[in-house]
Amino acid sequence: MSKVINCECGYTVQGESDDDLVRNAEEHIQRDHPEMVGTVSRDELLGMAEEG
Ligand SMILES: [Zn+2]
Repeated sequence: MSKVINCECGYTVQGESDDDLVRNAEEHIQRDHPEMVGTVSRDELLGMAEEG
């Protein structure tokens, strides 16, 4: 079951699993939101996830 996180910047992070989604979200944060690196936990990322 895939999931998505709709980032506030308009980017949609997609993942085929929780681990995949968290990894992709962390990559997006590092690339586009470097000031947020280390401030968003795995639980918070999964809390923002929606069924995709
Ligand atoms: Zn973003």
